Amino acid sequence: MIVIDVHVHAIEKLEQWMPWTHELFRKFNPQLYEDFEAHMCTEGMLRMLDEAGVSYAVVLAEECPGVSGYTSNEFVARLCGESSGRLIPFASFNPNKVEDPAAKLEELVTELGMRGLKLLPSYNHFYPNDPKLYPMYERAVELGIPVMFHTGSSIFKGTKLKYADPIHLDDLAVDFPDLIIIQAHGGRGFWYDEAVFLTRIHQNVFIDISGLPPQNLLKYFPDLERFCDKFLFGSDWPAAIISKNIKELLKLPISKEAKEKILGKNALKVLNINA
Ligand SMILES: [Zn+2]
Repeated sequence: MIVIDVHVHAIEKLEQWMPWTHELFRKFNPQLYEDFEAHMCTEGMLRMLDEAGVSYAVVLAEECPGVSGYTSNEFVARLCGESSGRLIPFASFNPNKVEDPAAKLEELVTELGMRGLKLLPSYNHFYPNDPKLYPMYERAVELGIPVMFHTGSSIFKGTKLKYADPIHLDDLAVDFPDLIIIQAHGGRGFWYDEAVFLTRIHQNVFIDISGLPPQNLLKYFPDLERFCDKFLFGSDWPAAIISKNIKELLKLPISKEAKEKILGKNALKVLNINA
């Protein structure tokens, strides 16, 4: 069975992350926290994936200093660059701080080899469907890269929940039918139904289950089996243990076929991987 983790954070330097983010990493990954730096290289990341039985992982940059933390696109590009394609770099930036987000995205894709974009509207305080960002989404379609959005709750200080409502992605799904849209955390908190509904009415919208305890998935998404084509496995490492989440997912009372799709088959298509 091919397993793909679509949501792994890269931590460039621990000191670039906020104290409450550290708390989260320590809480969910106490053993690793002590030995964290050892994983922050290509070899360390690949070893961790091998141990968990994961073939590919999306590795995320983050530009949210003061809220969660900061890991540069350059670091993520380097980390993934020597992984023979197993680590897939996703760029991230705060569109409020960039004069021309479309040009910035193109530069990150063509010059650094980034293969997707992760946006955090509730951390950087913008609406995903802001018309100012439309040229950037247009460029993402031209470049053929998916865009992942943080949706739902966060415990980090400074996040504003109104920007994380999946409903704002409906505009994008309609206006950019060829844009692959990934709802990270499936609208965690009180938008699970809304997030699933968007995947049902839009062929280009998906859910990544990162940051959700897999043993609770059927509580959040009672129709998981029926809509299993739209769910992608993600761990949110280091705020989770990848191998543990895979084990929990495999225990769910859903079909083997659905598990295979969620754990990897769907991501092969969404990420355009020829495995
Ligand atoms: Zn995350």
